Amino acid sequence: MKTPMLPPYDHSPGPYNGPTIEEVMDQRKRYLTPSLLTYYQKPIMVVEGSMQYVYDEQGRRYLDAFGGIVSISVGHCHPYVVKKIREQLETLQHTTTIYLNPVVSAYAQALAEKLPGKLSVCYLVNSGSEANDLALLMARLYTGNYDVIGLRNAYHGGSASTMGLTAVSSWKYNYPHSFGIHHAIFPDPYRGAWGHDDPDAGAKYADDIKNLIEFATSGHVAAFFAESIQGVGGTVVYPDGYLINAYQHCRKAGGICIADEVQTGFGRTGSHYWGFETQGVVPDIVTMAKGIGNGAPLAAVVTTPEIAQTLTQRIHFNTFGGNPVSCAAGKAVLEVIDREKLQLNSMEVGNYLINGLKGLMEKNDIIGDVRGKGLMIGIELVKDRRTKEPAKQECARVFERVKELGLLVGKGGLYSNVLRIKPPMCITRADVDFMMEALNIAMGEL
Ligand code: PMP
Repeated sequence: MKTPMLPPYDHSPGPYNGPTIEEVMDQRKRYLTPSLLTYYQKPIMVVEGSMQYVYDEQGRRYLDAFGGIVSISVGHCHPYVVKKIREQLETLQHTTTIYLNPVVSAYAQALAEKLPGKLSVCYLVNSGSEANDLALLMARLYTGNYDVIGLRNAYHGGSASTMGLTAVSSWKYNYPHSFGIHHAIFPDPYRGAWGHDDPDAGAKYADDIKNLIEFATSGHVAAFFAESIQGVGGTVVYPDGYLINAYQHCRKAGGICIADEVQTGFGRTGSHYWGFETQGVVPDIVTMAKGIGNGAPLAAVVTTPEIAQTLTQRIHFNTFGGNPVSCAAGKAVLEVIDREKLQLNSMEVGNYLINGLKGLMEKNDIIGDVRGKGLMIGIELVKDRRTKEPAKQECARVFERVKELGLLVGKGGLYSNVLRIKPPMCITRADVDFMMEALNIAMGEL
């Protein structure tokens, strides 16, 4: 079979004069934590990026269909974002919120204007874990309640409290966490009790939240916490009506509703700017990170003025939160998404991709499910479509093989049998054609 060709692209990577891949690997093994996960049996070294592509030290180009783990929203080294970062860097790199700075407040306004309802107050931080920690704190302070309902198969971070919210064993260390956190059944129409053919599936899954509140808590909760589409868990898209019902159960028990938009925000789902909008709900707190800064360390908690007020009981401070360089990046990202119509591109190219994958599914029994919205896609591989036995080794082989062919994708799900495609939102149909060819070859070789 002939090797697929990446679409032509007018960019020459600069010469690489740094250490060899072996030297970097040795250094990493000696001086960086052994807990780091390295993708691929033969890891690749990424030294340059341009829009939807990255380059290794040999100058080889790859289509980055994982976007630095869903963080490169508008394209690697997007020229406008780089320009805005550079301008800010040369003016003032750092100050904190103890002084006024026009970049930070202008960014907060621009971000708040993207949100519906009373969601208008931002707390800027540096990572998704920090944003979720803070959301948890605010929910508990605001409601005076402690118990929180999360979802099984969720990923919300690796800090002490967000590890409690996370509910996939591979990310949970064997030490005390999760106090007051209860994980409801996750609404997975592919593997769960109710599938796409059941119009009441959303309400039925949400009933588990009501049960949990009645059985496992005092009847009063601080929050319901959920990703709008589960990301690390393997792109699980909830059935319609799930979040509406979940939010009702939570609010009836005195809780507020928190949407983790770390992966789903900023137009990625195509039909909407925020993932929660695809479910017709308005949360009380929204957390964001990753694509918000196109790679800059930036994250945010956006909430209502009333909820934001709770933090004034004490001083809460974050040294780099609201850093002007990160805020300049964040503002540029918002502008680029609008100007280059990247939400629309997510929808159009995302639909094209889903259709292509459905075609691939007809030819390859290994594909059990193709799902997602916009450019947040999952391909679940199974040994047998009837038993749905996870095809973990096969998934690993496809994942490795497409890398050899020039395509970087992610992997996820409890059984690591879901290929995750979440590229920069600037990808084109020609990139998708390349992706299809590479996946087709890899699956054909199984
Ligand atoms: N929430 C979600 C949905 C995530 O996917 C992640 C990161 N994978 C986080 C929170 C944590 O973000 P960070 O790694 O920036 O702490």
